Amino acid sequence: MVLSRRAFLTLLAGTGALAPAVHAAPAPPRGAFALAGTVYPGRGAPLPGHAVLVRSGRIEGVVPTQAVADRPVVALKDGSVLPGVINAHCHDLHTARERRERWLVHGVTAIGDAASPLEFLPALRNSPPGQTATASVCGPMLCPPGGYPLPVHSPEHALVVTSPKEGADAVRRLADLGATRIKIAFEPGTLPRPWPRFDPASASAVCGAARRLGLAVRCHVEDLSGLEPALDAGVDFVEHVPYRWHDHGAIRPVLGPDGAPVPYYQHLLERMARDGVAMTPTLDVFTRTPWNGPALFEPVRAFRALGGRVALGNDFPYRRTDAGMPVREMRLLAKAGLDELAVLEAATATAADVCGFGDRGRIAPGMAADLLMVRGAPTPDALQDPAHVVKDGVFIR
Ligand SMILES: [Zn+2]
Repeated sequence: MVLSRRAFLTLLAGTGALAPAVHAAPAPPRGAFALAGTVYPGRGAPLPGHAVLVRSGRIEGVVPTQAVADRPVVALKDGSVLPGVINAHCHDLHTARERRERWLVHGVTAIGDAASPLEFLPALRNSPPGQTATASVCGPMLCPPGGYPLPVHSPEHALVVTSPKEGADAVRRLADLGATRIKIAFEPGTLPRPWPRFDPASASAVCGAARRLGLAVRCHVEDLSGLEPALDAGVDFVEHVPYRWHDHGAIRPVLGPDGAPVPYYQHLLERMARDGVAMTPTLDVFTRTPWNGPALFEPVRAFRALGGRVALGNDFPYRRTDAGMPVREMRLLAKAGLDELAVLEAATATAADVCGFGDRGRIAPGMAADLLMVRGAPTPDALQDPAHVVKDGVFIR
């Protein structure tokens, strides 16, 4: 049974499956349906003429469309079905209602909060199924006394660590409060007198404690001088793309005369690719700064060429980056050399890995039914106005 979009939405409205607002008590969706078209799994090649089977908020499987007989099929001429987009790096996102209005209705079905005040944790963790964008949460960024983010952001964005014991204690405290990721920073700033940076023992203690609790560590690194100590400490993910280099009091270029990363940088990118350390470059925010230029794009291009994994995140709300579908970041990742499939993977499967969403970001049996349907191929233009947004099996639009 293939229904028109209007007939299908009318059917859903009659069953109450179109959730009108965010409620405190979640009601798991029960409907069984299929979304048919060219299916983009999030990682791997697209499957033309296939349908994604959904039941009770989960993906049951992917089958040829003509094999579906037991449920309504939603299809668009030349339409595509893909996982909900995940913005892996944003900040200060509060209530479930705000996440619904800022992100979910536009097709961003999950977000990664990459540091925000402790008091936001309960609101960020309140994610009634099918009603708002799921959030992965770090809580405040761990930093040394006087270190980033303290010189730039409000003190609530930081938890100061003065020793290895304090670092391990802070990780346990954040875990107890519901953090799903840990964020640290290796950032000297742009001033002649660098900001204090983590001592290696404290940074290693943070990463070790996080690993024992199953929490991966995301590390803020804008300056190349922070990258090697961050990798030495054992961070799992690099936030931003290092685009400048403080080297013993001097600023040196990160790109050589050939336009490629200097050998020291290339060596560290190789190390990241080999060790599976994904990068979330956040090009959207940096292209709005005086640092906009090849130093943002060429390291991403080189990292990709080495097989490095790149995730999508735009650092909303800094520098007037936009909420909603992060099409600007998608276009900038394309400018850094990612083809259409690679951009989609960055915006779905890899973003889910960085955020720790084990059951989101891909279309596969057992995954949460966070799905988009767009007209034609899933280009940034098409994603700007998805035909359907499904969250945990619930039609949001
Ligand atoms: Zn950020």
